[in-house]
Amino acid sequence: MNQIFCRPARTVPLILLFVLSSCNAAPPPTTIQKPGAMTEKQHPVNPYYSRTDTTSLTLSDAVWKEVLSPSVYEVARHGSTEHAFSGKYWDYEGTGSYSCAACGNRLFRSDAKFASSCGWPSFFETLRPNSVLYRKDSSFGMARTEVVCGRCKAHLGHVFDDGPAPTGKRFCMNSIVLDFEP
Ligand code: FE
Repeated sequence: MNQIFCRPARTVPLILLFVLSSCNAAPPPTTIQKPGAMTEKQHPVNPYYSRTDTTSLTLSDAVWKEVLSPSVYEVARHGSTEHAFSGKYWDYEGTGSYSCAACGNRLFRSDAKFASSCGWPSFFETLRPNSVLYRKDSSFGMARTEVVCGRCKAHLGHVFDDGPAPTGKRFCMNSIVLDFEP
């Protein structure tokens, strides 16, 4: 008798479980990271970054904003300037080369870097003649020559005629738009 009465009690939960599981057609929840949640430590993936591709790179402002960290984007695409003596390379003496932090284009060799009192990393020559391009800059009431990346046109800094021999040039760059490679 006990076995007969117990059979339905065991069957009903199994049927309920089957019905409930077959109705649950929604996919498991996924985590979506909002762009606003990005921090400097979570450097976004930049599929356009290359240290070997020297062909011109033209992207929309919206794409640059998506693939660059906020601080690199502000200097590279909006021409901002980091504070003197605040960047990671102004007094750095490592041996290697410096590339554009926006696109990877090789810009300077460390043996062209010199100790400058200006507070920004300074070089007396570029790695290749077309590593950078030049633009007239008359902002802030000054006549200066802006230096931009030869591949992606990112703002890098300015060049002045008070550098050391053999060129007499001082490429005054923002650390934030440089990537050092030993
Ligand atoms: Fe670049």
